[in-house]
Amino acid sequence: MNKKWVYLFKEGSASQKNLLGGKGANLSEMTNIGLPVPPGLTVTTEACTEFYKQGKKLTDEIISQIKDNLKMLEKQTEKKFGDVENPLLVSVRSGAAISMPGMMDTILNLGLNDNTVEGITKKTGNSRFAYDSYRRFIQMFSDVVLGIPKYKFDYALDDLKEKNGYKYDTELTTDDLKILVEEFKNIYKLETKSDFPLEPEKQLLMAVEAVFRSWNNARAITYRNLYDISHDIGTAVNVQSMVFGNMGDTSGTGVAFTRNPSTGENRVFGEFLINAQGEDVVAGIRTPLTIDKLNDVMPEIYDQFIESANNLEQHYRDMQDIEFTIEQGKLYLLQTRTGKRTAESSLRVAVEMVEEGLISKEEAVMRVDPKSLDQLLHPRFDPIEIKKSAPIANGLPASPGAATGKIFFTAEDAVAASEKGEATILVRKETSPEDIEGMNKARGILTSRGGMTSHAAVVARGMGKCCVAGCETIYVDEVKKIMSVGDDILKEGDYISLDGSTGNIYKGSINTVEPSLSGNFGKLMKWADEFRKLGIRTNADTPKDSETAVKFGAEGIGLCRTEHMFFKESRIFSVRKMIVSDSIVQREKALEEILPMQKNDFKEIFKIMGPRPVTIRLLDPPLHEFIPTNEEDIAELSKDMNIPISKLKDLIHSLHEFNPMLGHRGCRLAITYPEIARMQARAIIEAAIEVSKEENITIVPEIMVPLVGKKEELNILRKLIMETAEKVKEEKNSKLEYLIGTMIEIPRACVTADEIAEVADFYSFGTNDLTQMTFGYSRDDAGKFISAYREVGILEQDPFQSIDQAGVGKLVDMAVTLGKKAKSHLHMGVCGEHGGDPASIEFFHKTGLDYVSCSPFRVPVARLAAAQAALNNKI
Ligand code: ADP
Ligand code: MG
Ligand code: MG
Repeated sequence: MNKKWVYLFKEGSASQKNLLGGKGANLSEMTNIGLPVPPGLTVTTEACTEFYKQGKKLTDEIISQIKDNLKMLEKQTEKKFGDVENPLLVSVRSGAAISMPGMMDTILNLGLNDNTVEGITKKTGNSRFAYDSYRRFIQMFSDVVLGIPKYKFDYALDDLKEKNGYKYDTELTTDDLKILVEEFKNIYKLETKSDFPLEPEKQLLMAVEAVFRSWNNARAITYRNLYDISHDIGTAVNVQSMVFGNMGDTSGTGVAFTRNPSTGENRVFGEFLINAQGEDVVAGIRTPLTIDKLNDVMPEIYDQFIESANNLEQHYRDMQDIEFTIEQGKLYLLQTRTGKRTAESSLRVAVEMVEEGLISKEEAVMRVDPKSLDQLLHPRFDPIEIKKSAPIANGLPASPGAATGKIFFTAEDAVAASEKGEATILVRKETSPEDIEGMNKARGILTSRGGMTSHAAVVARGMGKCCVAGCETIYVDEVKKIMSVGDDILKEGDYISLDGSTGNIYKGSINTVEPSLSGNFGKLMKWADEFRKLGIRTNADTPKDSETAVKFGAEGIGLCRTEHMFFKESRIFSVRKMIVSDSIVQREKALEEILPMQKNDFKEIFKIMGPRPVTIRLLDPPLHEFIPTNEEDIAELSKDMNIPISKLKDLIHSLHEFNPMLGHRGCRLAITYPEIARMQARAIIEAAIEVSKEENITIVPEIMVPLVGKKEELNILRKLIMETAEKVKEEKNSKLEYLIGTMIEIPRACVTADEIAEVADFYSFGTNDLTQMTFGYSRDDAGKFISAYREVGILEQDPFQSIDQAGVGKLVDMAVTLGKKAKSHLHMGVCGEHGGDPASIEFFHKTGLDYVSCSPFRVPVARLAAAQAALNNKI
């Protein structure tokens, strides 16, 4: 039998999206569940592929199937293509399997010609309407099918209006429109050297070919490249009999969602226009009415529409986005698809559909995009208040959330006011490390300079605090303590509101609403936890981060970096003394100063984390990062240490490295300065023993050695740590258990993971360094070429954000296999940036890791992504 290239709507179904395209498959489905859909036919995506195979030509077989099905369409509608008495008019609509901008626009009223236009006149009794439709059709067909610029037609229209002294299109009479039709045909002829096709079948075949050609226009190709859509799948074409929403006051057209796409509220949400056609609703020429108003003007149609909407939602088991038209008191549905929605709506719809018994918990978990959760974790402006406010300026949305408070121009002032209980916003030209305390105390941060990676932006994101950066239209005078926007001047203490998710700035105060971690969010997270196999830990160096992470559901700390603690104002001096010491005695003296502070840090974190596991990493960065750079600090250090300034400067100079990332850092520091590792081990063990006793809980600290490449490195440090730990235990008469493991972040460590496993209790993959060293891309410099590499297709995504599964991932996989072979119970996790990236999380799930660790605000993202990974890979 011959291949079937064309399907009537009543022959298809929703399961045939690949063959009929999304629009066509849904039109079929709606037809078959008995909803009022104007009859039509779909030319398949396979016909599109065939069209290209034949050198951009429709085969005779396809053409004859189109003609045969057209005959059946005529029978169904009791109208005839090209008929003077009762003409069939159709729309030609493109529709690929995946909805895709760039494809051909819809053509309405195809089938109009000098004869059928008279038929329409007779049927509607409205010759003006008929000729207006005709001239619009010629313009649309010429533009969409042949690419003749619209303005050429608009010029002709404007000329005619001017000649008659008209202001509005509505003043054109039937006779004017008849003249215009002839002029439009002439433009067509001038542009194409052939007559405008008057034969409806010819019009149709030309339109079908144009849809197929549009599959390979530049816009569509770019879009497919961007979203990784295959170029071979082709688009379908839908040919549908026309219904008219512009046939008077009992006609109309509209679009509606079955639930609210921004809040998720379970109530039909949409708009319609009386006496209007097609895209008039979205075109914004007339203001549409809300769908409730349909109940006032056409109550029966309203009820019928609501019932159809409910049917569609029940049938598809998801929120639908529906297009409809009313022709002289009769409702028609023209399209349905899954509705796009905000994160908030997505969450609410998913949870409520489970509660309504419409979908399962698994489906709900699969339906929410983990990445979108971020939006829900920060305070937002009260949605009603914000609608009434207009922004005075717009900067970069540097860190999400909303904040309102009094303006202060220095960190000191912001701290002082905050301590008195004021809500403050710190406004600066730009921020620097001295402003940290003020940034910490303020509700939000606004800067007039700097980009998305400026100090203000980076620090605010780290704090999870709202920040608008680089708002160049405001002028900040930190000395006079004023800021201005145009003629508006704001002084210290005036109220301002910032939206870090949009970059908008508002004058005055706007109430904010706190994110709710209970309610729908809590429910979805609980379901996610039921399905996921991966543990979720967090990367946290401070008590505050640890607290936030626990609130978001972290089950432990996967990476506590100790160097951040070294940078604190009160201790950096002791750290510097330790570094420039020229004898062990001197160094140990400095370390003794640091020990109680480190211990205290760990105690605070252990207290918050309770019995949850905490992995603490020994000092990692090269020492020169701690060294003073300004003369004042150098002088102070020289005085205290009794080292001449010139000698100190030599020493500082000697710490300089050409390639510090590959230099004297990580475990190499601990090997050469064992007293540092000893101090850190002591601080960890003492803290763990003390908190265990004080809180009466069992703590098993995990001590992690960074940057191991050879088993011997870990072996030496393991012994050293154990010596210290056992000594402390003896001193404190404790039986504390502890683990010693390593970060796997050097390719050599992956390749020899079986050897290293012999001396490790656990592995944590440091995928940032591992990516850096596997590719040989410096993370700090890769920004210069990564986007270019993505553009030419060398890289699919930034390997520092989403793990390179084929390369870096292969090393992880190898290390997991080797590690488990040597030690079957070896506990393994990942603590790089990738631990918060959904695609990477799925990969780690498949690799068989025990947990992922990510920054506190990513914890919910990771919980959901881990659940999706488990559900996606059920065996
Ligand atoms: P898009 O993919 O851009 O939404 P559509 O193919 O849905 O394009 O067409 C756009 C609009 O044209 C529809 O919303 C509908 O209002 C109108 N339209 C399409 N086909 C018909 C038809 N057969 N009768 C009446 N209006 C139609
Ligand atoms: Mg549409
Ligand atoms: Mg590292």
